[in-house]
Amino acid sequence: MKACILAVGSEMLTPFRVDTNSLYVTERLNAIGGDVRLKAIVGDDVGELAAVVESALGWADLIVITGGLGPTEDDVTRDAVARALSLPLALDESIVERLRDRFARRGMTMPDINRRQAMVPSGAVVLPNPNGTAPGLWIERGRTAIALLPGPPREMKPMLETLVAERLAPNAGGRGLFRRVLKITGRAESDVDAQAQPVYGKWTSGPVPISTTILAVLGQIELHLTADAASEREAGAALDAAAAELRAVLGPSVYSSDGRNLEAVVGDLLRERGLTIAVAESCTGGLLASRLTDVPGSSDYVERGVVCYSNRSKTELVGVPEELIREHGAVSEPVARAMADGVRERAGTSIGIGVTGIAGPGGGTPQKPVGTVAIAVVADDEARVRTFQFIGGREMVKFQAAQSALNMTRLVVMKAPAAREWAERR
Ligand code: ATP
Ligand code: MG
Repeated sequence: MKACILAVGSEMLTPFRVDTNSLYVTERLNAIGGDVRLKAIVGDDVGELAAVVESALGWADLIVITGGLGPTEDDVTRDAVARALSLPLALDESIVERLRDRFARRGMTMPDINRRQAMVPSGAVVLPNPNGTAPGLWIERGRTAIALLPGPPREMKPMLETLVAERLAPNAGGRGLFRRVLKITGRAESDVDAQAQPVYGKWTSGPVPISTTILAVLGQIELHLTADAASEREAGAALDAAAAELRAVLGPSVYSSDGRNLEAVVGDLLRERGLTIAVAESCTGGLLASRLTDVPGSSDYVERGVVCYSNRSKTELVGVPEELIREHGAVSEPVARAMADGVRERAGTSIGIGVTGIAGPGGGTPQKPVGTVAIAVVADDEARVRTFQFIGGREMVKFQAAQSALNMTRLVVMKAPAAREWAERR
C-alpha cells in the first residue's frame, strides 16, 4: 500500500509550528504494511491543496490528510478534495443535527459558520469525531482511498485508530512492518556499530527480513530493528531472536528492548530487588532525582534527593568533610564518594549516589575542564566511582551526568561488570 500524507495548515510553513501528525500516521500505517512514499505540508489554499491531491491520486493507494476541517474560511480541505475529485458538496443534515446537539450540551447555540463542517462531498463516508466538532471523511476513487482527519492530535489519533482497525488493517491481511528498539548507553556509536553490524547485516535477506538503523541521541544509542512480516506473531518471533542475538554480542550495555527508558529500567530493577535509593547532586541540580521520579510508582524506592550545590551544603547536608573538599576539590572522586556515602547513611537506603562536576561554561581548569563529572554509586557490597569527561553545553553535560549515574546504578544493581570493561574483555 503506497501512502501519501498531507498536513494542511499555513502555520506549519512558519518557523513556529511543526507537523507531528504525519509521524504518528506514518507509524500506524507502517504497522499495517503501509509504505509512506511522500508527505507534504500544504498551506490553507484551496487551489494548491487540490493540485497536490490530484497529483497524489495518480499513484497513491491511500492519501491521509490532516487539518483544515474547521469551520472557518481558512479551513479548505473539504473544498479542495471535492475540487480535485470534481465532486459536488452537499449539506449533510445529520451532521448539522449532531453539531447542534454538541453545542446545546454546552449551553450554546451553534454558530452559522459551523454548517461548513457539515458539507460532505457526494459519496463520502462520514467518520465520527468523538473529541471535536469536525467529522472526518472517507472517500474512495478508483484504487485510491482518501481519509480526511481533523488537525488537533487528540482528535486525529483516536479517529485514525478506528480507521486502521475498521478499514485499513482488514485490507492489509495482517502483513506489516513491526519494530523493536534496542537502547544502549555508555558506549560510542562507532564502537556499537562495529560490533553489531556483522550481526544485523545478514538479517536483510532472512526469511523474515529485518532492516536495522542506528540512531545516536545524547547519551544513548538506539538500534531500530524493522521486520517485514506476514503477521505480528511472525514478526514478534523474528524480532525476539534478533534482539537476543544482539544482546549477546553487545552485552550489558543494552539496557532495554521493550521501549522502557533508562530511569524506568533502573526503577524496575530496584523494585524487583526490594532496594531503595537516595541521591546527592551538585552539578545536575536535581535532574537525577527528577528523572528517577518521572517514573510512576517511584515512591517504592526513591527515599530522597538532596541538591548540595555549594561546598558548605555538601558538608552540612551530607557530611562531606571540609578538609576532603580542600584537599581534592569539590569536583573529585573522593568528594563524590563521600556525598554518596553521606546521603545513603542519612537516608538509610540500600544505595546512595553522589554527583559532582563542572557543567560550564565557566569554572573549568586545565586539570578539570568543563564537562568533568565525578560520580559515585555505593551499595551494601559494591561501590563504583568514575570520572567522566562530557562534551557539549551546560544542559548536555547535566543530562549526560544524570544518564551515566543512572547507568552506573543499573550496573551496580545488576552486579554486571561495567559495559566498557565488558567490551574490553572481548
Ligand atoms: P479545528 O476544528 O480545530 O480548526 P482543523 O481540522 O481545522 O480543526 P486545524 O485548524 O488545521 O485543524 O488545526 C488545529 C490545531 O491542530 C492546530 O493549531 C495545531 O495545534 C494542531 N495541528 C494541526 N495540524 C497538525 C499537525 N500536522 N501536526 C501537529 N499538530 C497539528
Ligand atoms: Mg482549523
